[in-house]
Amino acid sequence: MIKYISTRDSSHKVSASRAILSGQAPDGGLYIPESLDDIRTDYHKIIDNDFKGMARAVWNIFFDDYGSERIEEIVEKSYTGKFSSPDITPLVKAGRDSSYVLELYHGPTSAFKDVALSALPNLMTAARSMNDFEDDILILTATSGDTGSAALFGFSDVPGTSIIVFYPYGGVSDTQRLQMVTAPGSNTKAVAVKGNFDDAQTGVKQLFREIPKPKQGVSLSSANSINIGRLVPQIVYYFSAYKQLLDMGAISDGDKVDYIVPTGNFGDIMAGYFAREMGLPVGRLVCASNKNDVLAEFLETGHYNRKRPFHKTTSPSMDILVSSNLERLLYYICGADHTLEYMRSLAETGEYTITADELSRIRSVFTGLYASDEEGAAAIRAEFEAEHYLMDTHTAIAWSCMEKYRGSDEGKNAAAYVVLSTASPYKFSRAVLEALGEDASGSDRENMEKCHEITGAAVPEGLAGIFDREIRHNDVIETAAMKTYVVENCDK
Ligand SMILES: *Cc1c(COP(=O)(O)O)cnc(C)c1O
Repeated sequence: MIKYISTRDSSHKVSASRAILSGQAPDGGLYIPESLDDIRTDYHKIIDNDFKGMARAVWNIFFDDYGSERIEEIVEKSYTGKFSSPDITPLVKAGRDSSYVLELYHGPTSAFKDVALSALPNLMTAARSMNDFEDDILILTATSGDTGSAALFGFSDVPGTSIIVFYPYGGVSDTQRLQMVTAPGSNTKAVAVKGNFDDAQTGVKQLFREIPKPKQGVSLSSANSINIGRLVPQIVYYFSAYKQLLDMGAISDGDKVDYIVPTGNFGDIMAGYFAREMGLPVGRLVCASNKNDVLAEFLETGHYNRKRPFHKTTSPSMDILVSSNLERLLYYICGADHTLEYMRSLAETGEYTITADELSRIRSVFTGLYASDEEGAAAIRAEFEAEHYLMDTHTAIAWSCMEKYRGSDEGKNAAAYVVLSTASPYKFSRAVLEALGEDASGSDRENMEKCHEITGAAVPEGLAGIFDREIRHNDVIETAAMKTYVVENCDK
């Protein structure tokens, strides 16, 4: 059976279901498979399936303690009737030769996080019964905008669980905010924190250390991508894209495909690394950042430095300076001792530098690039004018990075380029309209309607409804009050 170790203590080993229950290791590390050898496989066995079959095959490897029957049940429950596309994550041809877009946003909240957060609550309730875990689970989640609504929807009225989502006050779009504050469920809460995403995330991490059991009979867990139960479901669509390319006749079996991933917390792209390590013919993984280019700089120089101005951009879900999941990659590349050293240095000084050898090993797989808001906007406009294909601001950052990448020596030779499209353009309608040179001075509702008029495509169901729903969550708190807020809510 696969053992999961903490990135900060390889002697601490748990099963997959235990790792999913806890979210984060007690020492503050993240759970990862002990050895990448445990996940190697013949990718043909995975892609010879529809999406659900691919999910079963990938999960059976990573979540082997669940057993294949239970996994089949959970996959059915997670992906039946929730996505508006039969392929779940359809691949679309767009742009010049051999460029494609993998649309990950056809779930209930119109962002890619639905793919994993449709599954995580089911994985967690099963883990609870498998481990005779009697406590109720309280999910604490910090969000830069999209995780929050996807997690609230995913956990809404799931027995034995409740959820509190912390989002940065003034740091999310009106649409994102409305999705959260109108979210259903008697066990859900969304609260604004007076700080940015990093403040909220740091606050949540601290709560895990300080009050892992905020009350008798209640244990904390996480729905952020620090939870391995979030990451593994995301591996599946890397396989799905490859399979769709084969079905289209766009590549031959075995050809290497490069994936360009709009990145914030390094979760989505880390899933791509796992897919590659499993044996999928992935060429390079391009990590696309917005103006908060801490990862692009790190992948260029080996120096991670969070001490820099924080920029609010038109791709807010990528406005992140501390990319948690990078720690998982560091463990595999740099080993336990160095990872511990780097994470300590990051906490104490806000920076660290990996060795030249470590950097060159990371760079043998990853390319880091970034694009500005203006470059993203130009990509949205150009692609819409050329092909009537409309993408959102996060996808546009990746698109723009793909163009830069394809113009470089390193990026010339892939058989295909797949841009991961992480959100529906309707979710970021204001910035999308501005990019198109349209008047975007109206409300989010008017802007969404206008996007609809321009494209002719319907506004996704989950977004069209948010303006008329009752506002259920009004709380605004200081960062310092997060602990009290959690404890008080446990007593209600
Ligand atoms: C969360 C998010 C990202 C970043 O994904 P990570 O896994 O944090 O790297 C990119 N785009 C959108 C729309 C998102 O919601």
